[in-house]
Amino acid sequence: MYFKEIIGKDTIAEQLTNGVDRGRIPHAQIFLSKEGNGALATALAYAAYIMCENKTDGDSCGTCQPCKLTHKWIHPDVHFSFPVVRQGDKKRESTTSDDFLVKWRAMLEQNPFMSKNDWFDAINEHNSAPNINAKECNDIMHKLNMKAYQSDKKILIMWLPEYLGNEGNRLLKLIEEPTDNTFIILISENQDLILQTILSRCQLVKIPPFTSKDIVRYLHEKSNIQSDKALQIANLADGNLNLAIAISNNQAVDYSHLIISWLRVAYMNNPIEINQWIREIESLDKEEQKSFLEYGLHFFSQFNFRALTKTEKVNLTANEIEVANNMAKVIDVEKSAIICSIINDLLENIGRNINLKIALFADTLQIGKAIRPQA
Ligand SMILES: [Zn+2]
Repeated sequence: MYFKEIIGKDTIAEQLTNGVDRGRIPHAQIFLSKEGNGALATALAYAAYIMCENKTDGDSCGTCQPCKLTHKWIHPDVHFSFPVVRQGDKKRESTTSDDFLVKWRAMLEQNPFMSKNDWFDAINEHNSAPNINAKECNDIMHKLNMKAYQSDKKILIMWLPEYLGNEGNRLLKLIEEPTDNTFIILISENQDLILQTILSRCQLVKIPPFTSKDIVRYLHEKSNIQSDKALQIANLADGNLNLAIAISNNQAVDYSHLIISWLRVAYMNNPIEINQWIREIESLDKEEQKSFLEYGLHFFSQFNFRALTKTEKVNLTANEIEVANNMAKVIDVEKSAIICSIINDLLENIGRNINLKIALFADTLQIGKAIRPQA
């Protein structure tokens, strides 16, 4: 992972690389950020930079011997720790991150911005609660107390220390009395769940969320998604790059078109047309149906915010604003709020095996009744 692959994080990258260049790397740090903000990716780029023997332009070179290893996440002196579950026939108490390294590297290769749920879905066949256990902590102590294999430095990257629970106490000595050239990077989404004793001994590095502009650029460069579409996704994702990637993978469908046709068939109140529209929704898979409803909720809440505050500072694309302007002729804030609540109910129920066809039909009639002029 290079810093240059993490769009929009130039300031934080500069801060971190400057520290390394001046020989001032804090012994223990917590990278704190909400999900999808790129904290893990930043730690990976940082570890590669620390280990690189030929640092250039504020990034690791990618070609020196350490880089060949760090960029594949196989450097023997860069250790990983993360929440895991029971695997195969092995007892949970003897299972550690090392048992999952192959999967871990494959997941990082696929998406270094992955969320904890992506990770848990990938490893959790038994549906048990993931955590970082006592054996893992003991192994970490052992690894970091050994002599480094290839480098003169050792790094531990621990993703989600909030899953340590009280086992975190086992690491206190390590964090308190560092061995030479050993650097610990904890990556957390929730500092309230980390033991205070650990928190107080680590330097806090806050990783800011991605801006909509960063996400648009990422989607454009990585997936060649056009700017209007990319902005629509970025607005929905609200700073979470992982969510933006997930939406872009799901969104072959133009949801704004489906919203407009929904209102049209609801307004016209023709059962044949309503059923045609429902068939279109039924042809989407479950994730797409959810994305469609989430999009609807986003659109109408922005529509309302705009109408109430008379501001143009909304998370809508130019195309959506045009739709909103046309819609404002028939739909006021009150009607839009009714639609929001209908969509909200649908979203809550869609995971509970409701009969979608019946629910959509009833909801479409209800929306029609709400938006047609009262006789
Ligand atoms: Zn290098």
